[in-house]
Amino acid sequence: MADRPPAGERVYHGVPVSGGVAHGRVIVLGHSARNILRREIPPEEVGAELARVQTALTQTRRDLLEVQRQVSEALGHQEASVFDAHLLVLEDPMLLDEVNRMVRDQRVNAEAAYQQVSEKFAAALGALEDDYLRERAADIRDISGRVLDHLLGHRSERDLRSLPEPCIILAPDLAPSTTATLDRAMVLGFGTDGGGTTSHTAIMARKLGIPAVVGLGDITARVRNGEYVLLDGHGGTVTVNPTDQTLFEYGQLKQRRAAFEERLGALREQPAVTLDGVGIRIAANIDHPDDSPRVRASGAEGVGLFRSEFLFLNRKELPSEDEQYEAYRRVAESVAPHPAIIRTLDLGGDKLPAAWARLGEQNPFLGWRAIRICLDQPELFRTQLRAILRASAHGTVKIMFPMISGIAEFRSANAALERCREELREENIPFDPALEVGVMIEVPGAALVADVLAREARFFSIGTNDLTGYTLAVDRMNERVAPLFAPTHPGVLRLIEMTIAAARRHDRWVGVCGEMAGEPALVPLLVGLGVDELSATPASVPSVKFLIRRLRLSEAKALAAFALGAEDAEDVRQRSRALAAQVAPELFATS
Ligand code: PEP
Ligand code: MG
Repeated sequence: MADRPPAGERVYHGVPVSGGVAHGRVIVLGHSARNILRREIPPEEVGAELARVQTALTQTRRDLLEVQRQVSEALGHQEASVFDAHLLVLEDPMLLDEVNRMVRDQRVNAEAAYQQVSEKFAAALGALEDDYLRERAADIRDISGRVLDHLLGHRSERDLRSLPEPCIILAPDLAPSTTATLDRAMVLGFGTDGGGTTSHTAIMARKLGIPAVVGLGDITARVRNGEYVLLDGHGGTVTVNPTDQTLFEYGQLKQRRAAFEERLGALREQPAVTLDGVGIRIAANIDHPDDSPRVRASGAEGVGLFRSEFLFLNRKELPSEDEQYEAYRRVAESVAPHPAIIRTLDLGGDKLPAAWARLGEQNPFLGWRAIRICLDQPELFRTQLRAILRASAHGTVKIMFPMISGIAEFRSANAALERCREELREENIPFDPALEVGVMIEVPGAALVADVLAREARFFSIGTNDLTGYTLAVDRMNERVAPLFAPTHPGVLRLIEMTIAAARRHDRWVGVCGEMAGEPALVPLLVGLGVDELSATPASVPSVKFLIRRLRLSEAKALAAFALGAEDAEDVRQRSRALAAQVAPELFATS
């Protein structure tokens, strides 16, 4: 593609996170909570400003009633009643009086007044001891976000479920929980100001097959609603007002890619075996039972990572044991006889249920997350473990625990599992007594004591997303440090190598389920380091297979040896990419 855009065309560069090309009109989401300017209004505008507040309240009330109706239809009256509390907040006379007074007496513009007053009320409630009242603080913030969106004329994340026509979304950022509910037919692609390759939003986009580019800087401030854009999820660009020539070039590229996709599809039933006869198991990462059919369709041999926490997002109540059992059972049955590895809850970090949004930790990725939450909340953990055990009677289910940092945590988690086994035995409820229990290696400390863990864990699954982030002290969500996020850093690779060596000594198998496993350029490296399984998003599975079937283990091993002794992450990436491109050039064709 041309480097210098022709006049009229503007190109923005970001980080490509989900392949594919999309074009269409853009909807720019706002920053309701931020950037609200306070200005003084002339006396003659006070009446109009007060009327604007009323209109925004009426519109918000209408939205809430509509959401309530939809929830009532989908989940029942009980679930929908939570919106009664939201309606009460919206109509709170004390809050409204104060907003009106501020507009009238201090002559402050409506949005600034509403934001200041609602934040004051929310902060006051948020500081109280009482759980119920603290939750009302979250309600106030939710409602005030909606009112402010109306006052500012913004669409918000919440509106993405009711888009009038197919479009491309540009947003400051998208929560993974929002991305999970995007309608593929209506959202052709999305770009965000912030974000990194291994953020859960990026992972979700790949899963949904929605082209996406993150880390686009301040694109939401530069592109206007309704402009026509072309978003390239391979190259990582957003082109505003593309010329006919650009559209033509992309059209051709799309055709070539479609032809290659067909070739990949033909590999579905073929195993991933290197040219010198070494088999690597290719599994798929999913986060919802509805994704199970895509596992088979992709040619994956089972599920290597079921991110169970997504069952807990986007809802007020936590899922019951029965609901979870049904979900895990569906996954297990649909991939049988292949295994389904269910990862226990990895809440925290960028994944928080709506009810916990107020936790507001300073360093959520170093905080109350994953196994730490589960060990602190025995009932929550017990419910999930029982559900997984019950599902194990219907297929080959394995469990793995996330964010384990050492043997004590693993033993505590296992003890909780053992208590659940005993309960089920007493209740005569069937489960698989031979169910394998593994550990995710994603905390550097766990890799360093992998020899200890390997004595008691049946398998390891290396989470390279977090392992890279924690080893290099790089926030996987922060685009400013995205260039430092390097899974090919020799420090990360040495931890992977230690993990594999420890597993070998104890006759355990090792998989990789981080995003690295689905990146063709890095697959030779992982194969050379000696992994037994690669688990990637279903959309990446065919490319990974294609590559492995053209690779020789001997070449991959030579690459791994070089990498472990290398000085620099970039040298390793380039060497691995060069080998991948040499054996499977089709995967890297960009023009
Ligand atoms: C990882 O950290 O690599 C991983 C697979 O887990 P998640 O991306 O869900 O944190
Ligand atoms: Mg992780």
